[in-house]
Amino acid sequence: MQPRSGKAIILGGGPAGLTTGLALSRAGWVVEVFEKAPTVGGLARTEVRDGFRFDIGGHRWFTKKDELNYFLVELLGDELLMVDRTSRIFFDGKYVDYPLRLGNVLTRIGPATSVRAAGDFLISIASQKINPKEIASMEDAYVAQFGQTLYELFFRRYSEKVWGRQCSELSGDWVAQRSRGLSLFTAVRDAIKPSDSKVESLVERFMYPRLGYGRISERMAENIAAAGGKVHLGQQAVRVQHDGSEITGVTVSDGSKEHIVNGDAFVSSIPMTELIQILDPSADRSALSAIQTLTYRDLITVNVMLNRQQVTTDTWTYVHDPTVHFARLHEPRNWSRDMVPEGKTSLVLEYFCDVGDGLWQRSDADLCALAVKELVEKLHYITPNEVIGAYASRNRDAYPRYNLGYQGAVETVKNYLRSFRNLSIVGRGGTFRYFNTDHAVETGLLAARGVLGESVNLDDVNSKQEYLEERRVSSRRASPPSVGQEATPREGTKIC
Ligand SMILES: Cc1cc2nc3c(=O)[nH]c(=O)nc-3n(C[C@H](O)[C@H](O)[C@H](O)COP(=O)(O)OP(=O)(O)OC[C@H]3O[C@@H](n4cnc5c(N)ncnc54)[C@H](O)[C@@H]3O)c2cc1C
Repeated sequence: MQPRSGKAIILGGGPAGLTTGLALSRAGWVVEVFEKAPTVGGLARTEVRDGFRFDIGGHRWFTKKDELNYFLVELLGDELLMVDRTSRIFFDGKYVDYPLRLGNVLTRIGPATSVRAAGDFLISIASQKINPKEIASMEDAYVAQFGQTLYELFFRRYSEKVWGRQCSELSGDWVAQRSRGLSLFTAVRDAIKPSDSKVESLVERFMYPRLGYGRISERMAENIAAAGGKVHLGQQAVRVQHDGSEITGVTVSDGSKEHIVNGDAFVSSIPMTELIQILDPSADRSALSAIQTLTYRDLITVNVMLNRQQVTTDTWTYVHDPTVHFARLHEPRNWSRDMVPEGKTSLVLEYFCDVGDGLWQRSDADLCALAVKELVEKLHYITPNEVIGAYASRNRDAYPRYNLGYQGAVETVKNYLRSFRNLSIVGRGGTFRYFNTDHAVETGLLAARGVLGESVNLDDVNSKQEYLEERRVSSRRASPPSVGQEATPREGTKIC
């Protein structure tokens, strides 16, 4: 179908909204992106403070889809680095590798626990084979993959810190994609059975922009401007007007003045719950009641600047100890040396919370003091005199929380939003899906194709319940692009 041209209004300047904006501006549309923050990038932004650069928690690019790798390489080219990943779990004063490796785990947890863990694991695997139990909750899913002992040791405490709920109250959907079980079956089968395909791990190395993950969004915004579009910063969508079957305009505010913008197509990447609340006239009762059950987990990152060369060699360190308030940390210089000034390093600590809870209510100064105290006294990573600065960054709606039964509420909201023929929803918060950046970008691209008249289904993005960090590839297939390699998009895969 021939693309018609027109004007697109895009809400939210994170990776998803910007991708749609870039694709449409390149297709000749007039594009205006409205972002409420003073910078682009959303959760995937990079903040700069006193010569240090900070992502909102470590962000790495990985994807199962070659065309998305080509997209990134075309976008950022020689700004990209290949980074080796080393992640560890810090628990009860010890470290284990993450993702878990059976041999490594058993040497760390001592002989008695090892026997119990191995027994539980085998029982769990056997009972799933003989009499498979329906996986409803996150607890069911972890126990099925790892057995009760390893679940208790390595997953329950961390998950409850991240989500602020018991694992029995959360849906098991998340686990299949995010955690690889300890099954040796695939590895053994690959070793003994000749096959045209093999499992390629996406865990060990990843692409990362030299100046921080936010460069992905910044470059997209630069390219939108170069193609004649506009990215407005500090402009919040406060009302979305409609006539019941179409969106007719959006009221945006810079905090003091409001104005209405009109367009032919509207694309929203702002949290789904927020969009429903700002519809004017009000959304229907079913959608309003559905969003009551959809909650997001919020996140404060505390960024600590240090007068020291390096603290860890890890990409991420996961901290399970419930007496430590943060759940994960990373050291940006281990991702790119250009994230810190010469001779210095920094640490980013992720404190998961809910707006209004005890952590959220602490002052920034208090949070920085807590972070330094935990690094000094609990992890023994630094001494107080090495700290040359710290600040807190608050992020609402960071993780869509998959409460048991969330799928029904999401469907209700999506069905309602489908009634507006010129509206698309994209991205992580926008679709209430636990998306990585590649998925957010993919929804942005598909939405653009939809606007251009193609028939697309955004629900297909990341819809398989399979582990995200490996993929089965033909052993005869060419490798995907990587940095330092000639990485020219192939015919037919150039997507913007
Ligand atoms: C701690 C953490 C670690 C992560 N690690 C990884 C990783 O390693 N790899 C990976 O691929 N992904 C990672 N992610 C996920 C990644 O951040 C998201 O997938 C990505 O940012 C989603 O992009 P988006 O555009 O859908 O949403 P967002 O980035 O949330 O962007 C939405 C934008 O909408 C704006 N907005 C909201 N309301 C309004 C309004 N009313 N008007 C105007 N603008 C509005 C927001 O300010 C925001 O900029 C991580 C996320 C977190 C929180």
